[in-house]
Formats: sequence, structure tokens, C-alpha cells
Amino acid sequence: IFAVKGRPLIDPLITHFPNLALAERHIYKPKILDELSDAFWPGPLTVVVRKRESIPDIVTAGRDSVAIRIPSHPWFRMLLEELRFPLAAPSANRFGYVSPTDAQHVIDGLGDRISAVLDDGPTTLGIESTILDIRNEGKIRLLRPGPVQREQVMEVTGIEVDSDSLSSQKDDNSIEAPGMLSKHYSPKTKLVLFEEYEEIRDQPTRKTAVILQKRPNHEMTGNEYWLSEDGDLSVVARNLFRLVRALDDGRYNLIYVQSATDYGLGIAINDRLMRASTKLA
Ligand code: AMP
Ligand code: MG
Repeated sequence: IFAVKGRPLIDPLITHFPNLALAERHIYKPKILDELSDAFWPGPLTVVVRKRESIPDIVTAGRDSVAIRIPSHPWFRMLLEELRFPLAAPSANRFGYVSPTDAQHVIDGLGDRISAVLDDGPTTLGIESTILDIRNEGKIRLLRPGPVQREQVMEVTGIEVDSDSLSSQKDDNSIEAPGMLSKHYSPKTKLVLFEEYEEIRDQPTRKTAVILQKRPNHEMTGNEYWLSEDGDLSVVARNLFRLVRALDDGRYNLIYVQSATDYGLGIAINDRLMRASTKLA
């Protein structure tokens, strides 16, 4: 995995299980994991817990913690059921580049380095799982925002979810884990974030693309693309990486991207955009 992706050995991998009973053999289970598991598994939630000896150090970058998940995809579940061991599995892309959302993306990035792709069509959510650190009983830490939202986790557990570590990762590189590097998920083309169309109205040239959150009602200048018809954030998330990848083929020397409303799924979308971009202001 590390060789194929060009991933540094200090970046720990998420380990996947078909069910909680199997996971329990390899971790020390915090009490709230039952609640979280009932509410969100199988699904796009990863939790960091203390590991047992059976999880090899290479998977956790030598840490005594492991990130675990029970995925919902039927084929991946079938594969996990067949195995007698947990499966460490990252996104199938070169380290640091935009995550893949379909088989062609995987072939584009890794085709010369892997022997097969299990293709069941494009991903349904479009962004990576939410990651929570649940090692500390009284406080949950949000390490990566994703499809499972902070508010949902607080509602299920009744415990405060602290997202402080997110803002500190953005400012410096004293990181919890390299998957959270402030620069990550980046296209080759320079990507600049904006909020209101007025900020960039006069900027675009022939070599500039503009990605909007929804179909614009202004007169279009060309090279304008949108992530959804009406701003539905789950549609935006599903289309985000696909569109960024499609525009990252050398046609443009700059891509402006409008940030999402900083609410609900928009928080995860903006997190990915921040990591992929150079900020305007
Ligand atoms: P991915 O590249 O999507 O497979 O994400 C893996 C990410 O999960 C890593 O880059 C870390 O951010 C996070 N992660 C995995 N294991 C741990 C761990 N033991 N402690 C903290 N974060 C972890
Ligand atoms: Mg990844």
C-alpha cells in the first residue's frame, strides 16, 4: 500500500472489519463505541481506539491506537466477510492527490502499479469518512469532518465533540496524522477559494475555470461549472472530486472554487477545499 500510493510510512491506515464482534478482538473497546456502532455502522464513520497486539505497527505508524471502520459497500463487505483478518485499506490514489470516486480515477493514478480493480460504479457519498478519536471517555475529538456530522454524533452519545484540532491543523504542520496535513487532496492546477461570485467576477480568463456550488443565475462568461443544480450539499459532495479531477487535465492554469455554506455536510466539503487550495485573502 505504501509503495503503491507513495504514502509516507508515518501516515497510519484505516483498518476495516465486517462487524463489531471481530473488531473487538483487536482493540480495547471504549463504552461509547456500542452507541456509535448502532447508529452509524456500517457506514462512513472511522473511530480511533487503543489497539491490541494483533494489529501490526506498520498499519498504525507505530502508534498504540488504530483507526477502524465497518464499511457499508456490499462488495467490500463481501470481501471482508471472506477474510479471516482485518483489512487495512486507504483510498486508491497517489498520496496527496484528490481521492478517487470511480474506477477510472483509480486506473489513472495507479493503473501501472496494481493488478486489478473491483468496480461497482462511482462512490455514493463522494468524500472520505468522518474520523473521531474516542479514546478519552469524556470528550470526543473530531479529526476529520465527513458525511457523519458532529451534531449527529453529539445527539447519539450526549458527549461534546471537540473540533479544535481541525483549526490547529490548518495553521501549522504539527499534525495528529499526515492524512490531516494542511495541504492534501490537491489537484495539480492551482485552486483558489472564494465565497461570493462578485469577488472573482472580473478575474476569469480563457485559462481560468470557475466552480460554483449551484447553477448560476447570472450571465455566464464561459468556463463555468457547478456542483449541483440547487445547492444540495450531498450532491455537491458527490460531484466535488470528480469535477476537480476532470478540470485538472492541463486545460486551465487556475481553478476558482466557491466554498460551501459552512453548515452540515458543508463543513466536510470546505475542509477538503481548504486542503486543496491556496486561499484568496
Ligand atoms: P485515508 O488516507 O483516507 O485512508 O485516511 C487515513 C487517515 O486516518 C490517516 O491519514 C489519519 O488521518 C487517520 N488515522 C488513521 N489511523 C489513525 C490513528 N491511529 N490515529 C489518528 N488518526 C489516524
Ligand atoms: Mg486517502
